[in-house]
Amino acid sequence: MMHAHSPPVAHSLSIDLHTHSTYSDGVLTPAGLVRRAASRGVSLLALTDHDETGGLAEAAQAASEAGILLVAGVEISAAWNGQTVHIIGLDIDANAPQLTDGLASIRRSRGERTARIAAQLDAVGVTGSLAGATRHAGSSAAIGRSHFARFLVEHKHVRNTSDAFSRYLGAGRSGYVPPSWPELARAIDWIHCAGGQAVLAHPDRYRLAPRVMHSLFQAFAQSGGDAIEIGSDGRFKSSAQVRLARQFGFALSSGSDFHAPGKNVTDLGNVTDIPAGVPAVWQRLRAMR
Ligand code: AMP
Ligand code: MN
Ligand code: MN
Ligand code: MN
Repeated sequence: MMHAHSPPVAHSLSIDLHTHSTYSDGVLTPAGLVRRAASRGVSLLALTDHDETGGLAEAAQAASEAGILLVAGVEISAAWNGQTVHIIGLDIDANAPQLTDGLASIRRSRGERTARIAAQLDAVGVTGSLAGATRHAGSSAAIGRSHFARFLVEHKHVRNTSDAFSRYLGAGRSGYVPPSWPELARAIDWIHCAGGQAVLAHPDRYRLAPRVMHSLFQAFAQSGGDAIEIGSDGRFKSSAQVRLARQFGFALSSGSDFHAPGKNVTDLGNVTDIPAGVPAVWQRLRAMR
């Protein structure tokens, strides 16, 4: 006997909610990023440039052509307890005035920091970094240390980006300038004013002792934070951070933090599945409702 109905199609949603384009320190244009994501099977993609939303219009256009869903995002540089933390805004209205003003103020302070980094590098005999970093930043309004790192590699001051940070750009090194980011709670407020979900990016990368990690999660909860990002590495599935997230009632988000194609780098769509029984942040996005 023939079946009248075809078997149900397995629904699989491949998500990537943390990526960068040429509008910050990524190397693909927003359209190039979207096309690469689509060709790799990603069906729900967020563009989350550092402190900048200028790439979202191009990305949205490319996503509609490629037939995938684009989530409007941003990765905000913020300060907590004297250190840098990154807060991702997902599903934001990129024209909300509190957010656009806040991001503009961060980009101004990036500009000031850039001049000081260049002056400090000059002082140790590494010349030409201001022009070099500016050229690597291209059309990005959010110039930063990645652009200096590319200059340092290009001019053979270091072998690779990681060396650029450990020898020149990291905390305590000759090219280091302490940033002046907005406090965590302000960054979360800007995201909420723009209708978005606030996600604490890559908590595993802050190298915090368990007790301090707990304080960060507590501060994030008290400031109204919505979700925690689990990295692209599967081991975070059962990690202490996931347990903490459950304890504080956060949803989970997952993204590759893709910056550039290359060897030994996480590519678009290579993200950790969100464990069953924990809410996924994408279920709260407007596009999914
Ligand atoms: P900034 O926001 O200007 O301080 O630059 C931070 C960016 O530099 C991060 O988003 C990463 O893309 C990159 N970065 C930071 N530390 C490292 C590192 N050790 N190796 C490579 N890239 C790094
Ligand atoms: Mn970056
Ligand atoms: Mn980050
Ligand atoms: Mn990032």
